[in-house]
Amino acid sequence: MNKVAHYLQEHVVGEVMTGTDARNYFSTDNSIFSITPSVIVYPKNENDVRKTARFAWQLAERNRIIPITARGSGTDLSGAALGSGVMLAFPAHLNQVKFVDAKNGVVTVEAGINFGKLQQLLLTYDRFVPAAPASLEYSTVGGAVANNASSIRSIKYGDMRHYVKGLRVVLSNGEVIETGKLSKKELNRKLGLATFEGEIYRAVDTLLEENRELVEKSSLNVTKNATGYDLADVRSEDGSFDLTPLFVGSQGTLGLVTEVTLDSEPIGGDPVLITAHLDSVDALQSAVEELRKLEESPSALEVVDDNLLNLVSSLNANYLKDVIELPYPKFVLIVEFDSAKEHKQKKLVKQATKILSKLSQQVEVEEDTDKQEVLWKIRESSAVVSGHNQGQLNPLPLIDDGIVPVDKLATFINAVYSQFSREHLQVALWGHAGDGNLHVQPYLNLSQVGDRQKAFRMLEEYNRQVRDLGGSLSAQYNDGRLRGPYLDKLYPADVHALFQKIKKIFDPYNILNPGVKINVSLEEVKPLVRSSYSLDHIFDHLPLS
Ligand SMILES: Cc1cc2nc3c(=O)[nH]c(=O)nc-3n(C[C@H](O)[C@H](O)[C@H](O)COP(=O)(O)OP(=O)(O)OC[C@H]3O[C@@H](n4cnc5c(N)ncnc54)[C@H](O)[C@@H]3O)c2cc1C
Repeated sequence: MNKVAHYLQEHVVGEVMTGTDARNYFSTDNSIFSITPSVIVYPKNENDVRKTARFAWQLAERNRIIPITARGSGTDLSGAALGSGVMLAFPAHLNQVKFVDAKNGVVTVEAGINFGKLQQLLLTYDRFVPAAPASLEYSTVGGAVANNASSIRSIKYGDMRHYVKGLRVVLSNGEVIETGKLSKKELNRKLGLATFEGEIYRAVDTLLEENRELVEKSSLNVTKNATGYDLADVRSEDGSFDLTPLFVGSQGTLGLVTEVTLDSEPIGGDPVLITAHLDSVDALQSAVEELRKLEESPSALEVVDDNLLNLVSSLNANYLKDVIELPYPKFVLIVEFDSAKEHKQKKLVKQATKILSKLSQQVEVEEDTDKQEVLWKIRESSAVVSGHNQGQLNPLPLIDDGIVPVDKLATFINAVYSQFSREHLQVALWGHAGDGNLHVQPYLNLSQVGDRQKAFRMLEEYNRQVRDLGGSLSAQYNDGRLRGPYLDKLYPADVHALFQKIKKIFDPYNILNPGVKINVSLEEVKPLVRSSYSLDHIFDHLPLS
């Protein structure tokens, strides 16, 4: 056992592991990358997290950097749940519900709790967190916070950032802080602290004050964004101040989250689902733009294309049988309304049906929830593709999360089709049409040099197109190692420089998840690409040795 592991074993209550099985297990997440950690710690309590950070800080003061990577369930698609130093795996012990305020629907949980478990609990109070990712059954709340995850319902309800009220965070020096909205008076108290927390408040406040205009223009013109650091939401016009938005979406690069306090929503009215078959990308564009103008947003506005449906049928002939008839239309648009007011719901469904009927020969309105479940299989069929390997060819999470202004959706789709056609690759497309956020995964063989080169060529070209359309490289999967190298091109240089300053304020020794999101180059990440890809971790359990 190495010296770091030895020290940690003597000082923390939780398990410390350096065995080959455990290190191999934590060497991959759900991204295309692989890095083997040297030590794995299952913190038993917050004090273990604090001690680990404190130890790494003290080593850094003596010029020895031991990176710390926080890990939820490792479903990250951007390579951010990987690191070469200490892997702090939260789900093993830090997985409890701490507090439920049933009246207001506010809940405090430990960061490693399974998101599906929390959602189940909230359902008993007729509430839910609408931003929970599709991967909720096998991922953690801490991971969703750190990635600023979102869902098919984020078009109406927003992303995780909308639901996180406050956090307990272990800072890079081992100090513990609580974040939340502070009044001017409370902020002044923080600014006067003679601690690292005080230093952070002073430095962030000064930085944002000196760069007011830049902060204003740091937001991208899209409905959801998981890239960069959220500078714009720290200071509010009413004079309040909150560090929470900086930690949400920071991928463990600014602090280690131990507890999360979340808002939730009451479950809406009985949903009504509308499906429309559209025969062109222009019809899709018009439908999405018109539906977005309704007085209340649909609770979901999703799309799949015929390539996806045909591919799913060829992989699993039974999956779409009795769900949708052949030949498949060019696009299926899936629209859900869940307005709590019955008369409003009826009005919305009527208006939406009218809009869609002008653009489509086939519009179906479904009120029966069992039948809706069957129709949702059209959208969920994307999982058949992303979970299916064709021999050595794997569908890769590479260019899978671009988001553009909604009026550019059709241009974006056409650009993706052209790109796949130029590369002679099969394309299948699905996503959150109402947000202009598309998912697409090229089938490539990472053991082949040619395909690895193609992967990075496609990444480069795709990112350029998304930028040219005024979009963001990631709506929900975040930067990590995959998109981190492009952050300086996505944002103006002076905004990117602010991100670097933020990182330096919170983590002056670069201990927290280095190589993720910020200050990372393509040269660094290319050698980290694994030679074969799979989604194995999703169904795994944590190793014990
Ligand atoms: C099949 C599939 C479907 C998916 N669907 C969606 C989706 O619908 N929407 C969506 O947004 N994402 C989705 N994802 C991506 C991913 O599952 C989510 O972002 C998820 O919330 C990550 O949670 P996790 O517990 O696996 O985190 P991990 O993968 O373990 O970590 C993710 C990031 O969070 C950091 N982190 C974890 N815990 C902490 C902590 N306690 N403190 C500080 N940092 C921490 C890690 O360092 C890493 O940077 C999907 C992934 C897969 C494989």
